[in-house]
Order: sequence, then structure tokens, then C-alpha cells
Amino acid sequence: MTAKSAAAAARATVYGYPRQGQGRELKKAVEGYWKGRVDADALRATAAELRRANWRQLAETGVHEVPTGDFSYYDHVLDTSVMVGAIPARHRAAAERDPLDGYFAMARGTQDMAPLEMTKWFDTNYHYLVPELGPDTVFTADSGKQVGEFREALALGLTARPVLVGPVTYLLLAKPAPGVAADFDPLTLLDRLLPVYAEVLADLRAAGTEWAQLDEPALVQDRTPAELNAAERAYRELGMLTDRPKLLVASYFDRLGDALPVLAKAPVEGLALDFTESAAAHLDALAAVGGLPGKRLIAGVVDGRNIWVNDLTKSLATLGTLLGLADRVDVAASCSLLHVPLDAAAERDIEPQILRWLAFARQKTREIVTLAKGLAQGTDAISAQLAANRADLASRAGSPITRDPAVRARTAAVTDADARRSQPYGERTTAQRARLGLPLLPTTTIGSFPQTAELRTARADLRANRIDTAGYEERIRAEIGEVISFQEKTGLDVLVHGEPERNDMVQYFAEQLNGYLATQHGWVQSYGTRYVRPPILAGDISRPEPMTVRWTTYAQTLTSRPVKGMLTGPVTMLAWSFVRDDQPLGDTARQVALALRDEVNDLEAGGTSVIQVDEPALRETLPLRVADREAYLAWATEAFRLTTAGVRPDTQIHTHMCYAEFGDIVQAIDDLDADVISLEAARSHMQVARELAGHGYPREAGPGVYDIHSPRVPGADEAAALLRKGLEAIPPERLWVNPDCGLKTRGWPETRASLEHLVAAARTVREEL
Ligand code: GLN
Ligand code: ZN
Repeated sequence: MTAKSAAAAARATVYGYPRQGQGRELKKAVEGYWKGRVDADALRATAAELRRANWRQLAETGVHEVPTGDFSYYDHVLDTSVMVGAIPARHRAAAERDPLDGYFAMARGTQDMAPLEMTKWFDTNYHYLVPELGPDTVFTADSGKQVGEFREALALGLTARPVLVGPVTYLLLAKPAPGVAADFDPLTLLDRLLPVYAEVLADLRAAGTEWAQLDEPALVQDRTPAELNAAERAYRELGMLTDRPKLLVASYFDRLGDALPVLAKAPVEGLALDFTESAAAHLDALAAVGGLPGKRLIAGVVDGRNIWVNDLTKSLATLGTLLGLADRVDVAASCSLLHVPLDAAAERDIEPQILRWLAFARQKTREIVTLAKGLAQGTDAISAQLAANRADLASRAGSPITRDPAVRARTAAVTDADARRSQPYGERTTAQRARLGLPLLPTTTIGSFPQTAELRTARADLRANRIDTAGYEERIRAEIGEVISFQEKTGLDVLVHGEPERNDMVQYFAEQLNGYLATQHGWVQSYGTRYVRPPILAGDISRPEPMTVRWTTYAQTLTSRPVKGMLTGPVTMLAWSFVRDDQPLGDTARQVALALRDEVNDLEAGGTSVIQVDEPALRETLPLRVADREAYLAWATEAFRLTTAGVRPDTQIHTHMCYAEFGDIVQAIDDLDADVISLEAARSHMQVARELAGHGYPREAGPGVYDIHSPRVPGADEAAALLRKGLEAIPPERLWVNPDCGLKTRGWPETRASLEHLVAAARTVREEL
């Protein structure tokens, strides 16, 4: 096919769409079902209506081929486990009694049955349920959901393309089931899994499917030769089937790397590639394998993970370059639109001028349609859209929000010394010990105390003007008073004010920083029925005034023990927000760091001797490819040091991270140059303490001895046993005693009892030293 006919055939498509509906109807229906207020038929009807509404909207916007099977009551990886019959033994009886209840049991567990483990979907903030597999796993095909949803779209007269998690990615995301040897490799099940995929594909074909999409995002990560081999084998076998739809293998979140030649040679009819992440490298790689002659290429040129308007002119140029490289070039977002909110037009509080810079799922769909039209009919056919797009981009580039000269001057003037504390760690600790006078095994918490219904009501009252700011702040002060007196009475050593004034650890700061934007309806699925509204890093960041100082200093007036100041670190501020696409992430991180540095310095000036800067997202933002990690860790650790390095040697800097697996970033954690780190450890029986020690980590550390993810109260003996385990790895001068994470999701009764036990455990173990 010539480039010209490839262009003429260009079509618009997407891989997936936000599931929740404009008013989060899906969340309401699913949670209503859990509570017994909505019956199964009503839940199914709501879901079907949401799917129909989405498809209609896509089709009306001009999308030629709509996705099916991307919808989910909870998670599409869980749906895949059901599709291939990988239902854990403990959930099987429930699933046989009632498939829907069995499904939710796998997702959320029941009174006496643990759910599947949940973890992050690549480097997004979406969480999937981890398949549990073992040598005894028997796969069986259940194509009901895929075929059913495909038929629904067909009934509307639409061209539809079922989207499935591909078999290689499915196995690479799985883990050994409980009781199975930890070194069991799920990929060894490929030969058993492929016939099940073959059956599902045959069922789809029988239902009239022309094209089916198999998502293989795991292939954008570094893969071993054995894994690449498995991909090669999988697509050779599926490709050789006779009774199947045409196959499109989709990759996203990065470039394909070594998997590109494998898939380019595979006997499948199409590939979908991400042209937003390192587009140039991808183009070169595609040219190097000789293009995709005879194949369909779907080019993801609209960023599916960000909320900025596309540069249509630039995307058209990329698409133009691709024309000679494939039989047919279609246009899409880089990944499913699941990761962006539904509709920017729903935002009423964002200035119209700024709203023009934003594109959520609906707006992105329009961009895709426009690009496909431009490709097929020439730029004249979309000249009005191109002109409007250029004006929007110019408005953004030229806005004082985008470029604040004062912020630019300040970041440009940063020196190495700004990111270095005035004394090395070894010398500072002496000064800090003298100033703080803490016992061995000092006790503390991670920051938040229970966010009670009263606190939430107070915030709602303030928003609804039922109380004024003074009334609200009075309630916050009262809460701080209670939290401080509880901690004193319980005998904790380093106290906190409890964070009662914070709605969310990122949003609270975003609302107070210049350059950040909040949305009213910008919900994005985090997991199951949990949706978050990430703030938008829209422009240059600065801090107009102190954000936390008065709460921390107020708390300090109530006690003679040190009260720890609490901030969210720059990397986490980026990771849980939508980031700018017009400058390197490191530049944005540096701006946020300088704003936070002012806060750290003001806390110190206000008399705060211990300041904690939380970085729970440091590891999750780690790039998917190892080669990209060094550069990331360089700017990430610099941003943390820039935030914290302006304090005196005798001011103690803490950091906190909520995970237990960090073996690959121990060096980076050391590079933060914090004085104390607290980590999650209770569930893994202090595994982190051993790991830190194994890596020769030289600083003070508080591996958690109280698992705050469950209402269970650990006994004092249990906490003491964990401490003794900790002491096997970390010497008493460097071991802290604290819970795994903040207590905001816990109730007061269990918090009270657990912290009393934690302090008792510390006292018992101190006696033994
Ligand atoms: N300081 C925060 C809190 O205690 C930390 C939360 C987190 O790490 N996710 O809630
Ligand atoms: Zn945490």
C-alpha cells in the first residue's frame, strides 16, 4: 500500500474509556450492591447503560472503532483472571454459588477470605488485582463478558474492537499463589494459557469480531531473552490459528525496545505503539526493523496519561512520518483513557482561559478524531481546529502562570551547596542527640491521627458556610489539643500535631501553592470504587505564605516534648498530581522543592526541631526501564535535599516511605541525606530492617511495628518481638519505634490501644539493653 492510500484509510480509535460515568454512577451502583441496597439486575443495568452511553459518545464524536471489554466492575486484570478461569481455590466456592459475589470476594475479600493482592498498574496510580498462579493452575475459557459486551456494541450498529490483556503480560503480572514455591515462574504456564486465549478469540470471531486487541504493556519493560522468547512463541501460536479475528498487539507507557522486532515479525495483523514517550526513539526503532509492511499500525500520539491539549501540528508530523512504514496508520491515545478524568467541560471553577489548555477523555477523543481526519483528508480539512489549537498552545506558553519570572530566576540560581546540609550526617547526629535528649529506641508516629467524622463534618460545614474560618480553626485547635495530650499521657517521645487540617496529603499543599490547579470533577480510578482527583501542576510553583507552620507551632506550645513538623515531599507532590508536559519533570520538582524549602526553614525558625518530609512515591515513580532510572533518581533525590538542606545541623530531618520493597533504591534513600527514615515493616516481620542492614545503610531507621492497614490491635508482646528482630539488624542507637504509616484511616479505640502497646514494647525492650 502507498503512503497515500495508508493516509486515506486513517481511522480514529481508543483502547479504553473512563468507566465511572459523569456522576460516578458506577461507584454508587457497585457500593450500593455491596451494601445490599442495589440488586444484581440493577447493577448490571447501570453498567450496561454506562457502556452504551460511552460508546454512543465516542461514535458521535467520530471514533470509527470503539473498544469493548475494557469496562470493569472493579479491575480489568481481575476480569482476565475470570476469563481464563484462574480463580484461587479459596474463592472458588463463592464464585460457583454466585459469579458476581465470587468476583467481589476476589477483589475485596470477605470476613474469612483474603482478597487477591493489589498493586500498581505499571507506573500509573491505577491498581490491579494480582493473579495467583501455581503449577497446578488449570485454565478454562470463559468468554462471556468479552462476547457479551462486544454484542452490546454491535447491537448499537457500531464497529467494535474487543480489548483483552494479552497472555504474556497477564503471566508477567502474576505471582505464585499462597503455598506455591516463591521461585515458581508463572510464565511456565504459557503453553497452558494459549489454548484458552485461542478459545476466547474463536468465540469472538464467531460473534462477528473483525479485529481483537491484545494489550502487552509488560513488553515495554526490560525483558530477559526467555521472556522475549515467550512473547515470540505466544504470537506465533496465536497468529497461526485459523479461527480467529485479526490481531492487534498493543503496547503503551513506553517504547517497545527489544520486543519491537519480535512483534514486528510476528504473524499478527497490527501493532499499537506509544508515540508520546520518547517518540523520536520509537520512530527510529520502527524504521530500523524495516517498518511494519502489510500491517496496521495504531499510533498513540495523544497522551493518555496527561490532561494537556495535544500539539496537533506536531502529532500530524509524527503521523506523516509513519505513513510510509505501515500498510495503514490509525490514530489513538497512547494508552487507555482510563487514566484521565472524563470531561474538562464539567469544570466550572477553572478560568475559561486556562480550561482551553486542558483535555480530559472527551477532549482527547476529539483530538484523535481531528488528527485522523487531518491524516486522511489533509490539513485543509481541519484548518479551523489547527488554528484554534495553535491559539490554545500559545495562550498557555505565553501565560504568566506558565512562566513566573521570579520562580525562574530562583531555580536558575540554585547551586550544589543549596542541596547539601552544612555538616555531614555523622557530625549532625551528635548535635541532634544533644538538642533532643531522646531515650534509646525513641517512639513516634508517622503524622496523621484518626480523621474522625467530626473533622470531616467540620470541613463540610466550612465549605457550605455553616461555620466560618474562625469556627473551623477552633475545631482544629481542639483536635490538636486532644492529640497532644493523648501522646503525652501515653508516653510517646516525639509528638505530632495529627494533621487534622489536611483533607489529603497532596491536595492540602496543592491548594496553597501558586501554580497548582484543583478540579471539581476530575475523578480518576485508583482501584475498585476508589477514585481520586489529582491536582494539576499547571504553572510555575511558589509558596505565597506558610502552609503548616501555625499548626505545628501551636501544637508545640502545648507540650515540652518535641513536636515533629510534617510535609509532603516534592517527588510525591509530582507523582500524585498531573504534571506539566512542557518542561522536564526535574525542573518542576525543583520548583516544588524550593517552595517546600521555605516551609521547612519557617518551621525551623518557629522552633521546630524535628521535621518529616514524606516521600511514599519515591519508588513508584521509578522509570519502567532500568536505563532511565539513574537520571530520575538524580533529580528526585536532589529535590528532596533541596527541600531539607537549609536547616541547622541540630534540626533532625525525617522521611517516610510506605513500602517494604526498596532493595533497588537503597542507595537513593541514602542520597536523600535524611537523618531518620520510617518504613512499612510489620507485615514482613522487619524484613526491611534486615535489608537496610544488608545494604550497609548507616542512618537511623524506624521499621514499623504496627500494621495500620488493619483494625487489628497488635499486642505489646508482639510489638516487642518485632523490635527485638529489628535490633538483630539495627543497633539500639539507630532504631526508632513507630507504626507502619499514618493513622488517618484508623479509629480512635484501636489507635489508642495500639500506641499504648507500642510504647510499652519500647520500654520493655529498652530494659533488656
Ligand atoms: N504523614 C502522612 C500521614 O501520616 C504520611 C502518609 C503516607 O505516607 N501515605 O498520614
Ligand atoms: Zn506511609
